[in-house]
Amino acid sequence: MTTLDQPSSARETPLLEVKDLVQRYALPRESLFKPATQVHALNGVTARVTAGKSLGVVGESGSGKSTFARLVMALERPTSGQVLLLGRDLNQMRPDELRRARRDFQMVFQDPYGSLDPRQTIARIVAEPLTALGRIDRAALRERVAAVLRQVGLRDADMDKFPHEFSGGQRQRIAIARALITQPKLIVADEPVSALDVSVQAQVLNLMQDLQDEFGLSYVLISHDLAVVDLLCDEIAVMYLGRIVEQGSPDDLFAHSAHPYTRALLEAVPRARVGGVRRRLRAQAIASQSSGAAGCPYVSRCALADRHCREAAPALRPVGQAHLAACHHAEAVMALPAATAEAG
Ligand code: ADP
Ligand code: MG
Repeated sequence: MTTLDQPSSARETPLLEVKDLVQRYALPRESLFKPATQVHALNGVTARVTAGKSLGVVGESGSGKSTFARLVMALERPTSGQVLLLGRDLNQMRPDELRRARRDFQMVFQDPYGSLDPRQTIARIVAEPLTALGRIDRAALRERVAAVLRQVGLRDADMDKFPHEFSGGQRQRIAIARALITQPKLIVADEPVSALDVSVQAQVLNLMQDLQDEFGLSYVLISHDLAVVDLLCDEIAVMYLGRIVEQGSPDDLFAHSAHPYTRALLEAVPRARVGGVRRRLRAQAIASQSSGAAGCPYVSRCALADRHCREAAPALRPVGQAHLAACHHAEAVMALPAATAEAG
């Protein structure tokens, strides 16, 4: 964060810098006589990623994570704010500049079934980000595809197969191979393991970790599950209703969480896996989002809420070294016993 003292390496141009990002979507009018309503998907998100480091973004469904991912990838324009890749504003680039810049940042989507075109061979799917950059010799392209397939633990011969011939975990390896083919500096992965069995999740996350070690990649890793980002990320941002409410190292968040919502997420991890809980949390989240009142956005769900919380929205502020929280009671929350989740 810009407001904190940083070691000199962090003062160099960051790989990714996101400044005060706001995204609103207009919803279709319910009737001619009602004003159009807007969804505030992002409400001023600021974050940065240093080359070789990874940022985890967690929060329940509807908190704005996928919107954040789409904006970082310049798949849509923000209502306001900036996305800087190596200091260059993606939304100020000409279309051809942006196309060339895409070499440096690629995306992996959640759904390994829906995100791979079933009618195309693996070779074509994996090669696509590279062919989108310009002409390339066919033999060289096949050699490059084979190389990335091996890097993700697949075989050269898999090139000529189709997506339906692979398991969920293998399809996600294919999606990762496609992201790797341009040798990007940053991979944005939106819920990359959420659709996979728990045992397969670990394999894919281990692969991502190995690739990071080997190539010095950075990830923006998005998940509703704190345990997933813990494994891979140097820093974690917790999002709630389009805002970062807490940000810090995994240790800050797991051992010294300073926002009641982070505590609730930690406690929800094991229970949510057996169903029920997450759906209830989501329904409440949407209800409080539409209320639009002053005060802390978390107030309706918070056990510590008092008059101050109902009247004034807390700013994201330092509560430790490189640890930020948006809670009037952060110090009191940190003094509570650690809300460590049981092994899921
Ligand atoms: P998450 O990925 O954390 O579940 P999203 O970024 O998908 O959250 O959504 C954040 C909020 O923005 C939600 O309320 C969602 O319904 C809304 N939203 C996202 N995309 C659109 C869109 N294209 N049009 C209208 N509303 C949207
Ligand atoms: Mg999402």
